[in-house]
Amino acid sequence: MSILVVGSVALDSVETPFGKADDVLGGSAVYFSASASHQTPVQLVGVVGDDFPVEKLEALSARGVDLAGLEHASGPSFRWRGRYRHDLNSAETLETRLGVFSHFRPKIPDQFKSAEYVFLGNIDPRLQLDVLQQVAKPKLVACDTMNFWIESRREDLLALLEHVHIITVNDAEARQLTECANLVKAARWILERGPHTVIIKKGEHGAFMFTSDSIFFAPAYPLESVFDPTGAGDSFAGGFIGYLARTGNTSKASLRRAVVHGSAMGSFVVEGFSVTRLLEISRADIDARVADFHELVSFDKTLGG
Ligand code: AMP
Repeated sequence: MSILVVGSVALDSVETPFGKADDVLGGSAVYFSASASHQTPVQLVGVVGDDFPVEKLEALSARGVDLAGLEHASGPSFRWRGRYRHDLNSAETLETRLGVFSHFRPKIPDQFKSAEYVFLGNIDPRLQLDVLQQVAKPKLVACDTMNFWIESRREDLLALLEHVHIITVNDAEARQLTECANLVKAARWILERGPHTVIIKKGEHGAFMFTSDSIFFAPAYPLESVFDPTGAGDSFAGGFIGYLARTGNTSKASLRRAVVHGSAMGSFVVEGFSVTRLLEISRADIDARVADFHELVSFDKTLGG
Protein backbone atom coordinates (compact mmCIF):
# COMPACT_ATOMS: atom_id res chain seq x y z
CA MET A 1 0.00 0.00 0.00
CA SER A 2 1.58 3.29 -0.99
CA ILE A 3 1.86 6.37 1.20
CA LEU A 4 1.19 9.94 0.17
CA VAL A 5 3.62 12.42 1.70
CA VAL A 6 3.65 16.19 1.53
CA GLY A 7 6.54 18.14 2.95
CA SER A 8 9.57 20.21 2.24
CA VAL A 9 12.05 19.31 -0.49
CA ALA A 10 15.06 21.29 0.52
CA LEU A 11 18.66 22.23 0.06
CA ASP A 12 20.19 22.00 3.51
CA SER A 13 23.45 23.43 4.79
CA VAL A 14 24.45 21.74 7.99
CA GLU A 15 27.30 22.07 10.44
CA THR A 16 27.98 19.45 13.09
CA PRO A 17 31.03 18.93 15.33
CA PHE A 18 32.16 16.34 12.76
CA GLY A 19 31.89 18.25 9.52
CA LYS A 20 29.98 20.54 7.25
CA ALA A 21 27.79 20.02 4.19
CA ASP A 22 26.41 22.71 1.88
CA ASP A 23 23.27 22.58 -0.25
CA VAL A 24 22.71 18.88 0.25
CA LEU A 25 19.43 17.12 -0.38
CA GLY A 26 17.08 17.52 2.57
CA GLY A 27 13.57 18.41 3.61
CA SER A 28 10.90 16.54 5.48
CA ALA A 29 9.38 14.88 2.40
CA VAL A 30 12.79 13.75 1.16
CA TYR A 31 13.89 12.13 4.42
CA PHE A 32 10.47 10.58 4.90
CA SER A 33 10.43 9.12 1.37
CA ALA A 34 13.98 7.80 1.50
CA SER A 35 13.06 6.00 4.72
CA ALA A 36 9.52 4.78 3.96
CA SER A 37 10.48 3.53 0.49
CA HIS A 38 12.30 0.64 2.18
CA GLN A 39 8.86 -0.63 3.20
CA THR A 40 6.40 0.47 0.54
CA PRO A 41 6.00 2.77 -2.52
CA VAL A 42 5.71 6.50 -1.78
CA GLN A 43 3.90 9.32 -3.59
CA LEU A 44 5.58 12.66 -2.96
CA VAL A 45 3.94 16.10 -3.11
CA GLY A 46 6.14 19.17 -2.80
CA VAL A 47 7.77 21.99 -4.69
CA VAL A 48 11.27 22.85 -5.89
CA GLY A 49 12.57 26.04 -7.45
CA ASP A 50 14.37 26.41 -10.75
CA ASP A 51 17.75 26.28 -8.97
CA PHE A 52 17.13 22.74 -7.66
CA PRO A 53 19.50 20.01 -8.89
CA VAL A 54 16.64 17.64 -9.78
CA GLU A 55 19.08 14.85 -10.72
CA LYS A 56 19.67 14.48 -6.97
CA LEU A 57 16.13 13.11 -6.72
CA GLU A 58 16.76 10.27 -9.17
CA ALA A 59 17.94 8.03 -6.35
CA LEU A 60 14.50 8.44 -4.79
CA SER A 61 12.62 7.58 -8.00
CA ALA A 62 14.82 4.52 -8.34
CA ARG A 63 13.62 3.45 -4.89
CA GLY A 64 9.92 3.65 -5.81
CA VAL A 65 9.16 7.26 -4.92
CA ASP A 66 6.65 8.67 -7.42
CA LEU A 67 7.53 12.32 -8.09
CA ALA A 68 4.42 13.14 -10.17
CA GLY A 69 3.29 15.50 -7.39
CA LEU A 70 6.54 17.49 -7.33
CA GLU A 71 5.90 20.95 -8.72
CA HIS A 72 8.70 22.83 -10.46
CA ALA A 73 8.14 26.51 -9.76
CA SER A 74 10.16 29.51 -10.78
CA GLY A 75 12.10 31.08 -7.94
CA PRO A 76 14.54 29.86 -5.29
CA SER A 77 14.12 26.46 -3.63
CA PHE A 78 13.43 26.06 0.08
CA ARG A 79 16.69 26.32 2.01
CA TRP A 80 17.45 25.49 5.62
CA ARG A 81 20.72 26.18 7.41
CA GLY A 82 21.32 24.61 10.78
CA ARG A 83 24.02 23.84 13.28
CA TYR A 84 24.46 21.22 15.98
CA ARG A 85 26.88 21.72 18.78
CA HIS A 86 27.96 18.91 21.08
CA ASP A 87 24.39 18.32 22.20
CA LEU A 88 23.28 16.60 19.04
CA ASN A 89 19.69 16.47 20.27
CA SER A 90 18.86 20.03 19.34
CA ALA A 91 19.35 21.77 16.03
CA GLU A 92 19.98 25.47 16.00
CA THR A 93 18.26 26.98 12.97
CA LEU A 94 20.52 29.64 11.48
CA GLU A 95 18.34 30.43 8.50
CA THR A 96 15.08 29.32 6.90
CA ARG A 97 14.41 30.60 3.40
CA LEU A 98 10.96 29.52 2.26
CA GLY A 99 11.53 30.51 -1.38
CA VAL A 100 8.97 28.80 -3.65
CA PHE A 101 7.28 27.36 -0.57
CA SER A 102 5.79 30.73 0.30
CA HIS A 103 3.49 30.64 -2.75
CA PHE A 104 3.02 26.88 -2.91
CA ARG A 105 -0.53 25.54 -3.23
CA PRO A 106 -0.28 21.74 -3.27
CA LYS A 107 -2.15 20.10 -6.11
CA ILE A 108 -2.60 16.38 -5.61
CA PRO A 109 -2.41 14.43 -8.87
CA ASP A 110 -5.64 12.46 -9.50
CA GLN A 111 -3.80 9.13 -9.17
CA PHE A 112 -2.71 10.11 -5.60
CA LYS A 113 -6.17 11.12 -4.35
CA SER A 114 -7.16 7.62 -3.27
CA ALA A 115 -4.18 7.30 -0.90
CA GLU A 116 -5.04 5.37 2.27
CA TYR A 117 -1.92 6.35 4.21
CA VAL A 118 -1.04 10.03 4.38
CA PHE A 119 1.92 11.70 6.05
CA LEU A 120 1.72 15.46 6.40
CA GLY A 121 5.39 16.31 6.80
CA ASN A 122 6.69 19.42 8.43
CA ILE A 123 5.43 22.41 6.39
CA ASP A 124 2.94 25.22 6.91
CA PRO A 125 -0.11 23.63 8.64
CA ARG A 126 -2.39 25.45 6.20
CA LEU A 127 -0.77 23.50 3.38
CA GLN A 128 -1.02 20.27 5.39
CA LEU A 129 -4.77 20.85 5.75
CA ASP A 130 -5.09 21.79 2.09
CA VAL A 131 -3.57 18.45 1.09
CA LEU A 132 -5.81 16.52 3.41
CA GLN A 133 -8.89 18.10 1.89
CA GLN A 134 -7.87 16.78 -1.52
CA VAL A 135 -7.48 13.15 -0.43
CA ALA A 136 -10.67 11.11 -0.80
CA LYS A 137 -10.85 8.74 2.16
CA PRO A 138 -7.59 8.17 3.99
CA LYS A 139 -7.41 5.29 6.45
CA LEU A 140 -4.52 6.74 8.45
CA VAL A 141 -3.34 10.34 8.60
CA ALA A 142 -0.20 11.30 10.48
CA CYS A 143 1.48 14.69 10.79
CA ASP A 144 4.64 16.29 12.04
CA THR A 145 5.45 19.92 12.81
CA MET A 146 8.17 22.07 14.36
CA ASN A 147 8.80 25.18 16.50
CA PHE A 148 8.77 27.45 13.43
CA TRP A 149 5.10 26.58 12.71
CA ILE A 150 4.03 26.27 16.36
CA GLU A 151 5.09 29.90 16.79
CA SER A 152 3.78 31.31 13.55
CA ARG A 153 0.68 29.19 12.77
CA ARG A 154 -0.60 27.92 16.09
CA GLU A 155 -4.34 28.24 15.34
CA ASP A 156 -3.97 26.48 11.97
CA LEU A 157 -2.03 23.72 13.63
CA LEU A 158 -4.72 23.20 16.25
CA ALA A 159 -7.34 23.07 13.48
CA LEU A 160 -5.25 20.46 11.66
CA LEU A 161 -4.99 18.28 14.78
CA GLU A 162 -8.74 17.66 14.67
CA HIS A 163 -8.22 15.77 11.40
CA VAL A 164 -5.17 13.62 12.12
CA HIS A 165 -4.90 10.21 13.76
CA ILE A 166 -1.23 10.32 14.71
CA ILE A 167 1.16 13.17 15.44
CA THR A 168 4.91 12.88 15.79
CA VAL A 169 6.76 15.68 17.58
CA ASN A 170 9.92 15.97 19.60
CA ASP A 171 9.87 16.71 23.32
CA ALA A 172 10.62 20.44 22.95
CA GLU A 173 7.86 20.81 20.35
CA ALA A 174 5.38 18.93 22.55
CA ARG A 175 6.16 21.29 25.45
CA GLN A 176 5.96 24.38 23.26
CA LEU A 177 2.66 23.33 21.67
CA THR A 178 0.93 22.35 24.91
CA GLU A 179 2.68 24.67 27.35
CA CYS A 180 3.04 21.63 29.66
CA ALA A 181 6.50 20.78 30.98
CA ASN A 182 5.46 17.22 31.81
CA LEU A 183 5.41 15.02 28.71
CA VAL A 184 2.67 12.69 29.95
CA LYS A 185 0.42 15.70 30.49
CA ALA A 186 1.52 17.19 27.18
CA ALA A 187 0.56 13.97 25.39
CA ARG A 188 -2.83 13.94 27.11
CA TRP A 189 -3.41 17.56 26.06
CA ILE A 190 -2.77 16.60 22.43
CA LEU A 191 -4.88 13.42 22.66
CA GLU A 192 -7.83 15.59 23.71
CA ARG A 193 -7.53 17.61 20.50
CA GLY A 194 -7.93 14.92 17.85
CA PRO A 195 -5.10 12.39 17.41
CA HIS A 196 -5.60 8.91 18.92
CA THR A 197 -1.85 8.38 19.05
CA VAL A 198 0.90 10.82 20.02
CA ILE A 199 4.54 10.05 19.46
CA ILE A 200 7.05 12.13 21.37
CA LYS A 201 10.63 11.69 20.20
CA LYS A 202 13.48 12.41 22.59
CA GLY A 203 16.47 12.13 20.26
CA GLU A 204 19.17 9.91 21.75
CA HIS A 205 16.79 9.15 24.64
CA GLY A 206 14.29 7.25 22.52
CA ALA A 207 10.63 7.74 21.70
CA PHE A 208 7.35 7.46 23.59
CA MET A 209 4.04 6.47 22.06
CA PHE A 210 0.93 7.56 23.96
CA THR A 211 -2.67 6.50 23.38
CA SER A 212 -5.63 7.14 25.68
CA ASP A 213 -4.94 3.93 27.63
CA SER A 214 -1.30 2.98 27.04
CA ILE A 215 2.28 4.20 26.95
CA PHE A 216 5.02 2.49 24.97
CA PHE A 217 8.69 3.39 24.94
CA ALA A 218 11.49 2.44 22.56
CA PRO A 219 15.08 3.47 23.28
CA ALA A 220 17.28 5.01 20.64
CA TYR A 221 19.84 2.62 19.19
CA PRO A 222 23.09 3.07 21.13
CA LEU A 223 25.29 4.30 18.28
CA GLU A 224 28.97 4.94 18.88
CA SER A 225 29.16 7.71 16.34
CA VAL A 226 26.39 10.06 15.39
CA PHE A 227 27.46 12.16 12.45
CA ASP A 228 24.51 14.42 11.56
CA PRO A 229 21.12 14.25 13.34
CA THR A 230 19.26 16.13 10.57
CA GLY A 231 16.32 14.15 9.29
CA ALA A 232 16.14 11.72 12.21
CA GLY A 233 12.55 12.77 12.94
CA ASP A 234 11.34 12.40 9.36
CA SER A 235 13.21 9.14 8.90
CA PHE A 236 11.59 7.88 12.09
CA ALA A 237 8.18 8.82 10.64
CA GLY A 238 9.06 7.09 7.36
CA GLY A 239 9.93 3.84 9.11
CA PHE A 240 6.89 4.09 11.37
CA ILE A 241 4.22 4.84 8.73
CA GLY A 242 6.05 2.70 6.17
CA TYR A 243 5.77 -0.32 8.42
CA LEU A 244 2.05 0.30 9.07
CA ALA A 245 1.32 0.74 5.35
CA ARG A 246 3.31 -2.37 4.36
CA THR A 247 1.59 -4.60 6.89
CA GLY A 248 -1.84 -2.90 6.67
CA ASN A 249 -2.09 -3.62 10.38
CA THR A 250 -2.74 -0.81 12.87
CA SER A 251 -3.32 -2.97 15.93
CA LYS A 252 -1.64 -2.04 19.22
CA ALA A 253 1.09 -4.68 18.67
CA SER A 254 1.73 -3.46 15.13
CA LEU A 255 1.97 0.18 16.25
CA ARG A 256 4.62 -0.89 18.75
CA ARG A 257 6.62 -2.72 16.08
CA ALA A 258 6.22 0.36 13.89
CA VAL A 259 7.81 2.56 16.58
CA VAL A 260 10.82 0.24 16.62
CA HIS A 261 11.05 0.36 12.81
CA GLY A 262 10.93 4.16 13.08
CA SER A 263 13.71 4.14 15.67
CA ALA A 264 15.80 1.84 13.45
CA MET A 265 15.49 4.24 10.49
CA GLY A 266 16.32 7.24 12.69
CA SER A 267 19.44 5.42 13.83
CA PHE A 268 20.65 4.83 10.26
CA VAL A 269 20.14 8.33 8.90
CA VAL A 270 22.28 9.99 11.58
CA GLU A 271 25.29 7.91 10.54
CA GLY A 272 25.95 10.26 7.59
CA PHE A 273 25.04 13.61 6.03
CA SER A 274 21.78 14.02 4.11
CA VAL A 275 20.04 10.81 3.01
CA THR A 276 23.29 8.98 2.15
CA ARG A 277 22.90 6.15 4.64
CA LEU A 278 19.22 5.62 3.85
CA LEU A 279 20.13 5.05 0.21
CA GLU A 280 22.88 2.56 1.07
CA ILE A 281 21.09 0.21 3.43
CA SER A 282 18.93 -2.79 2.57
CA ARG A 283 15.87 -4.39 4.15
CA ALA A 284 18.20 -6.99 5.65
CA ASP A 285 20.12 -4.23 7.46
CA ILE A 286 16.84 -2.83 8.79
CA ASP A 287 15.64 -6.25 9.95
CA ALA A 288 18.97 -6.86 11.68
CA ARG A 289 18.72 -3.54 13.52
CA VAL A 290 15.14 -4.25 14.57
CA ALA A 291 16.38 -7.58 15.97
CA ASP A 292 19.11 -5.67 17.86
CA PHE A 293 16.41 -3.47 19.40
CA HIS A 294 14.57 -6.56 20.54
CA GLU A 295 17.69 -7.90 22.18
CA LEU A 296 18.43 -4.51 23.74
CA VAL A 297 15.18 -4.37 25.69
CA SER A 298 14.22 -7.98 26.39
CA PHE A 299 14.58 -9.36 29.88
CA ASP A 300 13.12 -12.16 31.94
CA LYS A 301 10.63 -10.79 34.44
CA THR A 302 10.48 -13.89 36.66
CA LEU A 303 11.89 -13.42 40.14
CA GLY A 304 15.29 -14.83 41.12
CA GLY A 305 17.05 -17.41 38.92
P1 AMP B 1 14.19 16.64 11.21
O1 AMP B 1 13.75 15.28 10.77
O2 AMP B 1 13.26 17.20 12.23
O3 AMP B 1 15.64 16.72 11.59
O4 AMP B 1 13.98 17.61 9.93
C1 AMP B 1 15.05 18.03 9.12
C2 AMP B 1 14.55 18.70 7.84
O5 AMP B 1 13.55 19.67 8.12
C3 AMP B 1 15.67 19.43 7.14
O6 AMP B 1 16.07 18.66 6.02
C4 AMP B 1 15.07 20.78 6.73
O7 AMP B 1 15.20 21.05 5.37
C5 AMP B 1 13.62 20.67 7.11
N1 AMP B 1 13.08 21.90 7.68
C6 AMP B 1 13.69 22.74 8.55
N2 AMP B 1 12.88 23.78 8.86
C7 AMP B 1 11.72 23.60 8.17
C8 AMP B 1 10.48 24.33 8.06
N3 AMP B 1 10.28 25.47 8.73
N4 AMP B 1 9.51 23.82 7.25
C9 AMP B 1 9.72 22.68 6.59
N5 AMP B 1 10.86 21.94 6.63
C10 AMP B 1 11.85 22.39 7.41
